[in-house]
Amino acid sequence: MAQPIPEAAIQAIVEAGRRMAERNWVPATAGNLSVRLPGNRVAITRSGFHKAHLDAGAVMAVDLGGAPENPALRPSAETGLHCGTYRAFPEAGAVVHGHSIANTVLSRRAGDSIRLEGYELLKAFPGLPTHDAAVELPVLDNDQDIARLQRAVEARWARMAAPILPGYLIRGHGVYVWGPDMDAALARLEGLEFMLACEMASLSIGAAP
Ligand SMILES: [Zn+2]
Repeated sequence: MAQPIPEAAIQAIVEAGRRMAERNWVPATAGNLSVRLPGNRVAITRSGFHKAHLDAGAVMAVDLGGAPENPALRPSAETGLHCGTYRAFPEAGAVVHGHSIANTVLSRRAGDSIRLEGYELLKAFPGLPTHDAAVELPVLDNDQDIARLQRAVEARWARMAAPILPGYLIRGHGVYVWGPDMDAALARLEGLEFMLACEMASLSIGAAP
């Protein structure tokens, strides 16, 4: 009999889903959220639930390979990307994924990264002590084969200089961001989405982003 999922992990996911829905970052049943649990377990949203209305029944447990503890339940289709992040970064405690207008539009017109430079909110990311910095946010091509997409993400990480930016875009699809806990992951997501919204606004007024 599997251990129950700790209430704190469920609450973190439920609350984060609500916050992301308020910002219109998880339309329809888009997006997924997870929290690392002790014992190489992950609590993650089940497939097909709207993130504005999550509850304990919408959260399930998988192992670090993405296998459900209860085989009758289906985890988010992109569980492999969450688990791949936890396997690669022992410090990752929560992973969030959303589909905003800004991250969808900008990733569609980008090359293999988006440069974010000179933003105060870059301070939200580790290893960047001042706003006077720049990051290259990776953009990966979308792929319905999640195992293959995760391999592409890992190949990109292998080419990046440390510290690895705790986030990436999937072209025409959405963003992945992680942090040591859900609050930190959400703060980074909000920072990143703000900067992407600024890039969008710059384009719409014809300014150089
Ligand atoms: Zn998605």
